[in-house]
This record gives sequence, structure tokens and C-alpha cells, in this order.
Amino acid sequence: MNFDSRVRVVMTHSLLAVFLVGFCGCHTLAPHRIEPSAQYIAPELAADTRNPIEFGREVKWLDTAGWIWGIPGKILFWDRRIDRHKFSESTVEATAEYLATNHLPHIKVRMNQYAPLEDFQRLRKNKTVAWPYRYTLGLLAVGGEAILPGRLIGGDHFNPFTQTVHLYSDVPSIALHELGHAKDFARREFQGTYGVLYLGFPLYHETIASQEVMGYLYDRGDREGIIEANRILYPAYGTYLGNSVARFVPAASLPIYYGSVLAGHVNGRALSSQIDEDLHRYHEMFSSRPPVASQVIQVTASDSLPSDLLSDELAERAQDDATLLD
Ligand SMILES: [Zn+2]
Repeated sequence: MNFDSRVRVVMTHSLLAVFLVGFCGCHTLAPHRIEPSAQYIAPELAADTRNPIEFGREVKWLDTAGWIWGIPGKILFWDRRIDRHKFSESTVEATAEYLATNHLPHIKVRMNQYAPLEDFQRLRKNKTVAWPYRYTLGLLAVGGEAILPGRLIGGDHFNPFTQTVHLYSDVPSIALHELGHAKDFARREFQGTYGVLYLGFPLYHETIASQEVMGYLYDRGDREGIIEANRILYPAYGTYLGNSVARFVPAASLPIYYGSVLAGHVNGRALSSQIDEDLHRYHEMFSSRPPVASQVIQVTASDSLPSDLLSDELAERAQDDATLLD
């Protein structure tokens, strides 16, 4: 082994050690609710009165193929419900309850559903993202969903350009995490720019969405939900953390990636072993917290007014035009 490889091995092991030590019993995803003082919602999307949760038609051969394709994901997260392409009552209920209690009238949830044409319509209507973003990155995102259908390759995600959550895994905490992204985006005035950052550097957005899930479950005292979220969201966070760190050490990218996922598994389980103390402490700390009142700003920017890309002054004027609701 030459000097260079020795240095690399030492670096890899040190990074893994840092991950493992830093992760054990550590509240990286501490419960923290998103409490928006304002929301930016496209009126045309909010006006859609159809069921916010839609299900794809069952196609046995396709869903079986999708289940098989998802085996690596099932192993990585150690959960057979990843990319199951079918949903139990608990996942559907968790999704419906979160939507009902978090004011997200513009959000569509597609459960194992392939609907690129409808998603294109949603892209067109989503005026909270300025058109230069919608008709470049947004089109690419919808095109990607059309060409690489999640019904086969899985991959739960939130598309901020269409304000749509796509679910294939039958795991409530994953559904809540994607909805957490939706809630986070809804409070951002410049959603196109925020979307570009999400594509390039997702760790910030991932932390916020998972902390929202933890806060939501802690607020409800949902012990089982928290245990599941610890078990799933920490390794999921490990994938993003691993990818981010691996960019700086490409030679050791695989051990860093899998090391951080493993650290996530270890940490999530360590946290679940102290769940009762944590719940007790959380409710002691936050029992007297006053509720935060929020406003909804329905964005009225038109196709010709890319509010996302406006100067501060013009953005202020556009905001003056916005409709303020209770
Ligand atoms: Zn995410």
C-alpha cells in the first residue's frame, strides 16, 4: 500500500468514526415544526376541488416489477415497505391527516399514480414558481417523471414545480417527510430559486422536512410514529449527508455513503431506546407554547411577471398586489 492509499484509508476511517460517534443518540433531526407566518399558494392549484389524494390503478405485473426493482432500497432502509407500490390504511390516514391539519390546499398526492399530462397542467398553473424556472427545470422534472416512471423505478419525492407529492413506499414517515417539503416550499416567496437550491444542495431542505415530521409526531405524542421516523428518516438523512460529504472525497465516496446510512440506522435506533424520556422532556418544554397565527398569500403573479426573479422593489410591489386571506 503506498502513502497515498494509506492516507485515503485513514481519512475514510476517520470520517466513518466521526459519523458513527456524531450520530449515536444524537438529535440531528430534532423536532422542529414549520410555523409559517405566510404561505405563497397558487390560486389555480388551490381551486382544484378534486380529492387531494389520488391512487394509481392496480397493474399487477408492473407493480411486481416495481417491487423487485425496489429491492436495493428495501435492503438499504431495512424495510420491505419501501417501493411497495401498494398502501396500507396507516400510510393513507397519515397523509390525509397531515393534509387536513397543515393547510396545504394546493398540494396533490399521487399514490402509485402515473399522470404526467395532469402534472404538466399543474406545472402550468403553479404561478408561485416563475415561468423561466417552470419551463426549463420544471419541464425537465415532469419529463423525467414521464420517461422514468416511479411506478416502475419507485422513488418517493416532492416535485416543487408541480406541487405534487409522489409516493410509492408504504411508510407513513416517508409520506410525512415529502409533505414536510411541500409545507416548507409553501412558505417560501421565491419557490423557483428555492427549488434550484433543493436540486443542488438538498441537505438543508431535507433537514427542515424531517425536523417538521419529528415535531409533528412529538406534538401528537405519537410514540410509534416517532420510533418509525427514527428508524427511517435517520438512514435517509444519512444518504444525503453521505452524498454531500462524498463530493469532497470522491475516492472514498462509497464507504462514506454506506457508512453514513449505517450511522443513521444506529443513531435512529439509539434514539428510539430513550423515546419515553424524550417525549416527556419535549412536552414539558413546549406545553405552554402559544400557537402561531399564519396568513395565506395567494400569489397573483402572471406568466409575464416572473416574481421569482424580480428585484426586491418589484417583488415588494407584486406582494402588495397579492391577496391576503385569513
Ligand atoms: Zn426529502
